[in-house]
Amino acid sequence: MKIVLFSAGEAADEAAFSALGGDLAVLPVMAPLDAGNVDAHEDADIVSGFAGCDFSAAILSRLPRLRFIAVRATGFDNVDLAYCRARGILVSNVPAYGDSTVAEHAFGLLLALSRRTVPCAEATRRGDFTFCPDRGFELRGKAFGVVGTGHIGRRAIEMASGFGMTVLAYDAMPSPDLQARPDTRYVTFNALLAEADIVSLHVPATPQTDGMIGAAELARMKRGAVLINTARGQVVDHAALVGALERGHLAAAGLDVLPDETLLRHPDKFFAPDQAPSATQLRAALAARALASMPNVIVTPHNAYNTQEAFRRIVETTIANIRAFAEGNPINLVG
Ligand code: NAD
Repeated sequence: MKIVLFSAGEAADEAAFSALGGDLAVLPVMAPLDAGNVDAHEDADIVSGFAGCDFSAAILSRLPRLRFIAVRATGFDNVDLAYCRARGILVSNVPAYGDSTVAEHAFGLLLALSRRTVPCAEATRRGDFTFCPDRGFELRGKAFGVVGTGHIGRRAIEMASGFGMTVLAYDAMPSPDLQARPDTRYVTFNALLAEADIVSLHVPATPQTDGMIGAAELARMKRGAVLINTARGQVVDHAALVGALERGHLAAAGLDVLPDETLLRHPDKFFAPDQAPSATQLRAALAARALASMPNVIVTPHNAYNTQEAFRRIVETTIANIRAFAEGNPINLVG
């Protein structure tokens, strides 16, 4: 069986995949799967890739032999699961490789904003060692609102608790063990928005969470609150977020994820005659550019997962997923 490993690049990982053995032949490809390279791999039985791969029906329909997609990520919103079901293509993910990894990044963004780390470091890089005029704020005693209390959200709760913050939580399915924690209070979504000093998003991208933080929700947030998003870009209406920050209603935002990240990564796609972006995509891209240039916003390029430890776990689990599929006992299936 031929496995095409998209977004390859780490020699050690490629070696680990190549050692799969049996009749599994691995072809590493540096780029993510997209319309430009799909036809070169029409003989693929298995494909594997990160969140940047295009696993839409339009692309998958050009891979006639495909039987299995091993997503090297937790989120699988880039996979057309309905199409896969109809064609009998199985899909696996890496359910929990980086709960702390992502929660730590959320706090990294928050601390960088609360202590003005980026402008201070930029000044010293320029040789300017004068005291930073920009005053920060402390986390201790602040209300930390966690939207989505799954694997990552619960690590964020532990970290917030360690910082001496009070924790407000919201989830469609609250966890009984978290409900029992004396330092965590489940509240309604609206109460969380109204009471939290910091709102941190940890829900998956689904039709229900699409635009979950829109203009109305931003208006409900406390004046001077901070929004942190390490979940998925489509959960937030970024044009509305620009407005909330420009009006000073929100003090700051830390964003690791944005809508249509592939378009932002490859600006040439804006001008591709065969796949012109929609008005919604253009609006989101303009908002993303505006946000990235704002002094009270930090944007990282979907980097929350990117630690040596998390990568090792992703590779190990994906190899186990592929081996289990090849042996006829697939694991970590989604959809
Ligand atoms: P998880 O499935 O363990 O937890 C998600 C939680 O969200 C669950 O408790 C679920 O009940 C809740 N939820 C789902 N829909 C909801 C809704 N409509 N309203 C309220 N709550 C809802 O997932 P996780 O491992 O904690 O990961 C969360 C998300 O983080 C992933 O889906 C992924 O999109 C994102 N992520 C980002 C990165 C990154 O590098 N930035 C890395 C890993 C994961």
